Amino acid sequence: MIATKGYAAPTATETLSAFDFERREVGPHDVRFEILYCGVCHSDIHQARNEWGNTIYPVVPGHEIVGRVTEVGAHVSKFSMGDLVAVGCLVGSCRECDNCKKGLEQYCRVESVYTYNSEDKISGGVTYGGYSNQIVVDENYVLKVSDKLPLAGVAPLLCAGITTYSPLRHWKVGKRHRVAVVGLGGLGHMAVKFAASFGAEVTMLSRSAEKEEDAKKLGASHFVLTKDPEQVKKINKSFDFIVNTVSAPHDYNMYLNMLDTDGLMICVGAPPTPMQIMGFGLLGERRSIAGSGIGGIPETQEMLDYCAEHNITSEVEIIPMDYINDAYERMLKSDVKYRFVIDMATL
Ligand code: NAP
Ligand code: ZN
Ligand code: ZN
Repeated sequence: MIATKGYAAPTATETLSAFDFERREVGPHDVRFEILYCGVCHSDIHQARNEWGNTIYPVVPGHEIVGRVTEVGAHVSKFSMGDLVAVGCLVGSCRECDNCKKGLEQYCRVESVYTYNSEDKISGGVTYGGYSNQIVVDENYVLKVSDKLPLAGVAPLLCAGITTYSPLRHWKVGKRHRVAVVGLGGLGHMAVKFAASFGAEVTMLSRSAEKEEDAKKLGASHFVLTKDPEQVKKINKSFDFIVNTVSAPHDYNMYLNMLDTDGLMICVGAPPTPMQIMGFGLLGERRSIAGSGIGGIPETQEMLDYCAEHNITSEVEIIPMDYINDAYERMLKSDVKYRFVIDMATL
């Protein structure tokens, strides 16, 4: 076993603290790498605090991981020592089912194995995430990273990036589409960047007036302060798509009313409690509501390559490992521009 240092939440109500644990030995198909940066996703908070009701403790969060390869198994063909690599939310799936064969490993019929808080199918026990100095992952779930982009800004692409890229591609969002993004946080700022990059006219819907200037720099043409009923009234029936990234319980109906005929609200946020939806909000304009979970491995690589080609990275605030509990509190106050990324050299 490989002695590893990390940070874990010991229970749902305690803050995160230093935690030593062991990774499995590098198997024939495994890649081991030193973690250089790890992004901080709101899903880390949901799970550290057991807000989805399925956390196994201690939990080592972190699924926006970039680093450099330090060891490869005997049968590894895609990676060599010293390569820049990344791992997102997935470290395993059955590889046999129709969805796995289509590259939709996040919808594996048998079981998607998540980077943390999942049963480790290879070594037993639980998977531990990227708030740690190294990780061992099956090469099929390891991504290649270009050396053209700043690495800290690449880390959040592994979750915030792919989670917004994937539905925009799936629903073929592009030129002539009017797209609104709800919530300017980690996912929201990537949704704005991608939608603008694909040619859509983007409107930012935010409760935070001070984010207007940034939203426009990120690629939004318009900014609507959702706390102001006058501004909200003016955008009734205005959008073809809404990407809803909100992490907390909120009123979906207000946003549904902003969709034009045949409009679609894509929900990627995962609030801990169910939301109520008025039938009239859907039937009036033949509107739809859909969800989307992260993205599969081939599409994640496609997204990373697209970002390298188009010079797209996340806007980050780099933090030391021991700042993580403060970072969580600031995220809960929407005080992050626009992703915290842990510099793992500080662990
Ligand atoms: P984040 O950085 O904390 O951003 C969330 C943003 O939502 C906030 O910045 C805020 O933006 C807005 N917001 C927060 N509370 C709100 C409320 N009560 N009403 C309206 N707006 C509110 O979080 P994130 O990392 O982007 O994650 C967002 C959500 O996506 C989380 O629930 C996370 O678990 C989920 N997620 C899902 C997937 C997936 O596969 N679908 C993948 C990753 C994450 P403003 O200040 O602009 O209002
Ligand atoms: Zn995430
Ligand atoms: Zn499968």
